[in-house]
Amino acid sequence: MSRIEKYRFQIETCDNCRCGFCRVDCPVWDIKRTESFSPRGKMQIIRAVLDGDLPPEEKIAEIFTYCTTCGQCEATCASNYGLVHPRSYKELVDVYVSFREFLKDTNPESFKHYRRIVENTMKTGNPYGESHNRFERISDVLNPSKDADVLIFFGCTSTYRVETIARSVASVFKKIDIPYKIMDETCCSSPVFRTGFIDEAIQLMERNREMIENAGCEELVTTCPGCYSVFDEYYREEVGLDIEVKHMSQFLLEKFEDENLWSRMDGFKHVITFHDPCHLGRAMGVYDEPREILMRIPGVKLEEMARTRENSRCCGGGGGFRASHPEDVKEMVRKRLEDAEKINATILASWCPNCILNLRFGETYKPSRLEILDAMEILDRVIK
Ligand code: SF4
Ligand code: SF4
Repeated sequence: MSRIEKYRFQIETCDNCRCGFCRVDCPVWDIKRTESFSPRGKMQIIRAVLDGDLPPEEKIAEIFTYCTTCGQCEATCASNYGLVHPRSYKELVDVYVSFREFLKDTNPESFKHYRRIVENTMKTGNPYGESHNRFERISDVLNPSKDADVLIFFGCTSTYRVETIARSVASVFKKIDIPYKIMDETCCSSPVFRTGFIDEAIQLMERNREMIENAGCEELVTTCPGCYSVFDEYYREEVGLDIEVKHMSQFLLEKFEDENLWSRMDGFKHVITFHDPCHLGRAMGVYDEPREILMRIPGVKLEEMARTRENSRCCGGGGGFRASHPEDVKEMVRKRLEDAEKINATILASWCPNCILNLRFGETYKPSRLEILDAMEILDRVIK
């Protein structure tokens, strides 16, 4: 049985409803305004294909490349609130990912960008196809210990694309003197899994699971929400990983409280607005920890954008979307930068290398007075 068949209940429940609440704020619906590209339209297409009413050909596969896996539709779907069936669910992203798996082998043209990501990752251990050691360029600040309870997973985007974030993580840990281990990381599998290449993703998960277990630490801490969500959700389910997993914001908030590290922070006079990464907020429910840390930096004024927390606007950077539809991503970024500009923020902060990479990518075409910073870059500036 293919993976998508597991979701018959969700597909049929939606078919009995077709309310369309899911379209509200879907970033793809926002730019396409075409029913077949909306979350509801996608559910209808899946039902028709599984029932044999529609052939699973390229034009269908192309539609399913139009999803950032942001989970906004899950947050608004009527089924989530028990309005359609007493058994509520929140699994639309899993449905779309499983349908990508169903389509990928028979539709090579639509999946060619994703296949490149997968081939790079299987060959080099990172989706960018970089062959150098990921820690090489931050070796001057990296200070891993042989004896530590914490294992830091840096992730591919911070080490290969936004090196200032990886550097800031190492620098902050050095300043606050917390011992940590590192490992010979392979991509966590997030982009491979979310583009529908599940078998390959499970191979990557197995590689990392073994290294994580060999490290013998109590906690696994990630700088990237994409890594955090796959480790905490899919590694447990798919390869039986058994370790406490935390996002960096959760880990640091506990440490700052326990060791009263707040007093080591310099003033930082800025109006900051926080962009919730989809895979940290909607996927994992982590909204408060990043805000608590940023708010307690002396001098910081935190202001919320109109769309925030569960309703945070997706920047377009997830689910392989930047690889397959870069021009549409620019439009999504433009809208997010405008949200921040409307409230007169001086800094648009997030806590995700992928969001930061993506938001800065947007800046290349739209000049903005906002400085776009990861929270780790801010902490590295303010911690003495
Ligand atoms: S996950 Fe996001 S982009 Fe994909 S259908 Fe749902 S709201 Fe739209
Ligand atoms: S809100 Fe949920 S149930 Fe309603 S059409 Fe969208 S996916 Fe279907």
